[in-house]
Amino acid sequence: MPAVSIESILEKRIHLLDDIYELHFKLVNPAELSFRAGQFVNIRVEDGNPKILFRSYSIMSPPAEKTVIKTCIKLIPTGRATPWLTTIAEGTPVKMMGPLGMFKFNETSEKNTIFIATGTGITPLICMIEDQLEKGNTRPIHLLWGFRYEQDIFYTELLESIAEKYPNFTYAITLSRPEESWPGEKGRVTEWIEHNLFQPENTQVYICGVGNMVLDTAALCEKMGMPKEDVHFERYD
Ligand SMILES: Cc1cc2nc3c(=O)[nH]c(=O)nc-3n(C[C@H](O)[C@H](O)[C@H](O)COP(=O)(O)OP(=O)(O)OC[C@H]3O[C@@H](n4cnc5c(N)ncnc54)[C@H](O)[C@@H]3O)c2cc1C
Repeated sequence: MPAVSIESILEKRIHLLDDIYELHFKLVNPAELSFRAGQFVNIRVEDGNPKILFRSYSIMSPPAEKTVIKTCIKLIPTGRATPWLTTIAEGTPVKMMGPLGMFKFNETSEKNTIFIATGTGITPLICMIEDQLEKGNTRPIHLLWGFRYEQDIFYTELLESIAEKYPNFTYAITLSRPEESWPGEKGRVTEWIEHNLFQPENTQVYICGVGNMVLDTAALCEKMGMPKEDVHFERYD
């Protein structure tokens, strides 16, 4: 599906956590959009600054939901796009281009899947995970989600509900700066891979987030024996 200009309205903004927001854009023209799980849209920032700016946001809602685009964003107070997106009123018209991007699930693979995210890197992964499970993928699918602190965690109810519905889906949260009392995984996502990637030749990985984590994790997966074509990633910067 080629990218098109999209007119939408910000229908709803949910404040999930201090600096994390879920945004729902209702499509106006076209009224429906076909896209593949993992793709993103480029949103036009109309904050009054004469310098035109587009910023990319991954689509979290599943491809089956064609009339709305949902995404999850982190507010960067020093940025331009996120201060605008987190303060405009619900009902504001928002222009975007999409769908864009080549980050997509290999549906021909017979391998187990590990999804790895840090922070809002979860956005396209939720779309891919729900899409695969709804399409009947019954192979093991594991999500590893990294944060610094316990108070940064969000969407646990959503992940719990997916895990309850689909027994082949499991997830773990790892904290790089946990309190002593944290019962979950500890350390960076790369440390988890070092200790838990048991069948690299029978696993495909999808990685998304900001910074060195993405390339470090991809390189580590290959170093541990995963074929390059099974290592997929999207970088936010
Ligand atoms: C393909 C693609 C998909 C993306 N999808 C999302 C998404 O679904 N949700 C989302 O929040 N962002 C996403 N981003 C990042 C987004 O495009 C913007 O860069 C981000 O929202 C910051 O924009 P800004 O203008 O507010 O700040 P900027 O001035 O552009 O950003 C300042 C700095 O903040 C850092 N930064 C950017 N994004 C993040 C983040 N998510 N978490 C922590 N630090 C960050 C970067 O190092 C950047 O240099 C995506 C980027 C790409 C390339």
